[in-house]
Amino acid sequence: MKCPNCGKTISNQAHVCRYCKTKIVRESDKMADKLIVSGKAAIICGALLALIGLALVLTGAYRMGGIALVIGLATIYLGKRLG
Ligand SMILES: [Zn+2]
Repeated sequence: MKCPNCGKTISNQAHVCRYCKTKIVRESDKMADKLIVSGKAAIICGALLALIGLALVLTGAYRMGGIALVIGLATIYLGKRLG
């Protein structure tokens, strides 16, 4: 591959151009970063939802709380698989 900054040929596995020291960012790396970020966001959202569900169950809203709890836990599970 070619360095996007100086145009010299560098290794496909290089993370930094050895000529101009430019950081090489690949699309696949960006995708992985996004997945990790969205995974963490999903875990946080899922945890919040599960907490809300738990609070609802404790206050007697079993059906609503149960649904929120299940969705929250499923979201945490998905987030863990992503990130
Ligand atoms: Zn370069």
